Amino acid sequence: MRILIAEDDFTSRNILTAILKKWGYDPLTTVDGNAAWDALQQPDAPKLVLLDWNMPGMEGLEVCRRLREIDSPSPSYVILLTGRGEKGDIVQGLEAGANDYISKPYDKEELQARIGVGKRMLELQCSLLEARDALAHQATHDPLTGILNRRAILDRLNKELLRVSREDGRLSVGICDLDHFKKVNDTYGHQVGDEVLVAFTQCIQAHLREYDSVGRYGGEEFLIIVAGSEGQIQEGIYERLVTEVADTEIKTKAGPISITVSIGVAPGTGQSAIDALLAAADAALYQAKAEGRNRVAYAIQQ
Ligand SMILES: [Mg+2]
Repeated sequence: MRILIAEDDFTSRNILTAILKKWGYDPLTTVDGNAAWDALQQPDAPKLVLLDWNMPGMEGLEVCRRLREIDSPSPSYVILLTGRGEKGDIVQGLEAGANDYISKPYDKEELQARIGVGKRMLELQCSLLEARDALAHQATHDPLTGILNRRAILDRLNKELLRVSREDGRLSVGICDLDHFKKVNDTYGHQVGDEVLVAFTQCIQAHLREYDSVGRYGGEEFLIIVAGSEGQIQEGIYERLVTEVADTEIKTKAGPISITVSIGVAPGTGQSAIDALLAAADAALYQAKAEGRNRVAYAIQQ
């Protein structure tokens, strides 16, 4: 584990560096408060900090205060290691945002134990963040296909509408429905049906650009949001997707399966209402189905 040392005294710094190395840590040394603050601004800065109080440039206490002003999901763990040992100093140090306070001269075993506490706290913080991120991912993604779920894609659509409204841009939404998908499930079983859904999702993702989005809207329904200013560029995406799906055999454990998709597309602007846009795309999808499936149908701009 990396530890940032901020200590202006040459001898103290060298001793501290040597013992941290001996304990298996990877120390990064800085010689004053300004250098420490600069090092802490780096994206891969050490999370555990051993900070002297009295240093030229910026004092350790000021480094602490500045660190605490940053709204970070993973704040640093700061141990003030200082010659100032009065009770008032300790209170002031902790109030400035230090997690711990050790007076010099320090006892090596105590320092090692207190660094160990910091390490445990940081590891706990890290695992909590991972758990939080995993939960956030679960709440917004479809477990089968890994793409956004219904709630998340509608949320994205709301945000995209706000964005195009600000930028005076355009977007389109496409509701994709796999043709006769029930027949796949009835003939081969739901596991094979799931394989088809996953393969179809991969096909959509390969066709979208980085700033387009896709989510699972319902069982075999998918919602695509295509951003852009040129209507023709947007429209080409849906046609290519329909053709690609029809031309690609999906390898499943029941053997290769061919499917087709129908897409209803509604173009919109920042003035479009989300419900009207979705209803128009849905009506266009109905039209694509009625016209024989395996095709794209367009609504007029909402
Ligand atoms: Mg000093």
